[in-house]
Amino acid sequence: MESNTEGADPTDALSAVPAAGSRRAVPVVGHLRFYYGPMDCGKSTLALQVDHNQARQGRKGLLLVHRDRSGLPQITSRIGITRQAVEVHAGVDPRDLVRARWASGSRVDYLIVDEAQFLVPEQVEQLAVLADDSQVDVYCFGIATDFRGRLFPGARRLFELADELLPVQVDVLCWCGLPARFNARVQNGRITHEGDTVVVADTETTHVDTNGDHTDTSTSTTVRYQVLCRRHFRLGDLGADAGVQGQLTFA
Ligand SMILES: [Zn+2]
Repeated sequence: MESNTEGADPTDALSAVPAAGSRRAVPVVGHLRFYYGPMDCGKSTLALQVDHNQARQGRKGLLLVHRDRSGLPQITSRIGITRQAVEVHAGVDPRDLVRARWASGSRVDYLIVDEAQFLVPEQVEQLAVLADDSQVDVYCFGIATDFRGRLFPGARRLFELADELLPVQVDVLCWCGLPARFNARVQNGRITHEGDTVVVADTETTHVDTNGDHTDTSTSTTVRYQVLCRRHFRLGDLGADAGVQGQLTFA
């Protein structure tokens, strides 16, 4: 203990030691929020809306993305809005990106992170440090579960660490009309729960063209994704008009 605080009475108004419960000496921290939902629920649109609202108030932001559906370092919304973003590969420490902004004389008040399910857990922890130590508000947007119905590692770490967890309130419907929470992987017309690590299988060994079909150059297997309710995800029931309604790109 430092000598100038030794023996100080925490309840003394002039004391340097905060009394328990007092928030005067508690440092300001940023918030880490995770907005999650199935594919096509409007997460990227919301990400860009949050950015717009923040920027309009004069706050300076940094947009990060891990593999946008466009395949480019940008955040692309399905309703046609696009913003440039910085790609965060697995080896990128988001704190370095913020420090680089500081070094160039720019403030960073907030971060927007799209496709946050693809973050590695360490990157989520680094985002939490930015919130705690640098007062950066971090807004993460992503999918909670993969095609097997299991949490993505990045999403899991966000569920563990985020200050707020916010389901995106745009209902996506299964073909039966119930809310769809699961992203089914459909391979050659049938649902599959198998596959290796999701990130590698989805984004590195297959090519995604703009029509949404994965064209694996070695096997020409067609892979697509369809959102389903839990029951039809469990049963593997894609509905009568499978392949037309609800067909989605996963990039
Ligand atoms: Zn259903």
